[in-house]
Amino acid sequence: MNFEITENQKMIAQMVRDFGAKHIKPNVMKWDESQEFPVDLFKEMGKLGLMGVLVPEVYGGSGLTYFEYVTAIKEIAKIDGSIGLSVAAHNSLCTGHLLKFANEEQKKKWLPKLATAEWIGAWGLTEANTGSDAANMKTVAVKDGDYYVINGSKNFITHGKSSNIAVVIVRTGQAGDSHGMTAFAIEKGTKGFTHGRKENKLGMRASETTELIFDNCRVHKDNMLGKEGEGFIQSMQVLDGGRISIAALSLGIAQGAFEAALAYSQERQQFNKPISTFQGISFKLADMATEIEAANLLTFQAADLKNRHQEVRKESAMAKLYASEVAVRTANEAVQIFGGYGYTKDFPVEKFYRDAKLCTIGEGTSEIQKLVISRCILK
Ligand SMILES: Cc1cc2nc3c(=O)[nH]c(=O)nc-3n(C[C@H](O)[C@H](O)[C@H](O)COP(=O)(O)OP(=O)(O)OC[C@H]3O[C@@H](n4cnc5c(N)ncnc54)[C@H](O)[C@@H]3O)c2cc1C
Repeated sequence: MNFEITENQKMIAQMVRDFGAKHIKPNVMKWDESQEFPVDLFKEMGKLGLMGVLVPEVYGGSGLTYFEYVTAIKEIAKIDGSIGLSVAAHNSLCTGHLLKFANEEQKKKWLPKLATAEWIGAWGLTEANTGSDAANMKTVAVKDGDYYVINGSKNFITHGKSSNIAVVIVRTGQAGDSHGMTAFAIEKGTKGFTHGRKENKLGMRASETTELIFDNCRVHKDNMLGKEGEGFIQSMQVLDGGRISIAALSLGIAQGAFEAALAYSQERQQFNKPISTFQGISFKLADMATEIEAANLLTFQAADLKNRHQEVRKESAMAKLYASEVAVRTANEAVQIFGGYGYTKDFPVEKFYRDAKLCTIGEGTSEIQKLVISRCILK
């Protein structure tokens, strides 16, 4: 593996930094406090190619690799984790599912809209009573001629309200059968498909999280992705890629918290010295920097495997597990280094602290990552 940062990565990092300084940074706390999901911002990011990073140019995307994708998510999350989460969910989950499993006609119909952010995408696997145990889902689709009639609901769905299309995995067979679920792409406005309540969250507050509700929703069989019964297997593969983006999101949050703490520790004086001169503080910074570096290597290892179309289940779970826990630890120590000021909204670390926690939960909790990793190493 080559550790050198590519010219494309440097370019995309600079582009995100410039865009973020102008369009994201000034609004971070406003969106956080109002829980506003800034749809127009995503349209602007679409113009920069950030909403279809991995989508080939033939479908209107940027046609870049996981290296540039990880770099983009990381740089966005350094400024605002919730924008990073939404960009990741749009790119990796909804668009990623279509990219991998839609047929040519479906790709031509939906990918150009998603890659340019003309449309925002959502992806629904989780239900209120089946999160980690997603295969036990209760939302069902019953065949009726050329249509499937869907009833049930999905919970905690990123962009559940503002999305124009959702890829949804529903039960078409027996409960407990991993071949008993099927994926459909369902457009906004389809009769019987609505959104439910929006969550009021600890962090990632500018990223909209809502329920999806299906009440006798009739979806044509042409909206099925792949074959009947493949939905759950597909979604596990989609998550293999998605977890790399949550690792990148975690890295950005960790790096943002670390940089803020590093600068503050050199400015803040106590006992007539910068607090960075106290070993108790400098060792914290050393631990933070080391863990971020290790998380970065795990994440780029997974990205490299993905670029080479290799099996990545274990490596993406490891990257997600480690990077997300590092984000939580780093943000926690950053608040500590800021002391009382870290506990206020005048400094950025309290938000990193709140946002970081989602990374150990979304796209499979840390415990579920350990389950995935242990299954890979015990087989
Ligand atoms: C902000 C946000 C955005 C999200 N976006 C999406 C989205 O766009 N699409 C989507 O489909 N989902 C989404 N999710 C859902 C997310 O993936 C789930 O919350 C997550 O998978 C955990 O499920 P749960 O919340 O039901 O927790 P549970 O599964 O109820 O877990 C509760 C606790 O039990 C532990 N646990 C469960 N099973 C085991 C086990 N076998 N061994 C050990 N411990 C176990 C868990 O690790 C956790 O600590 C989102 C969630 C949030 C908070």
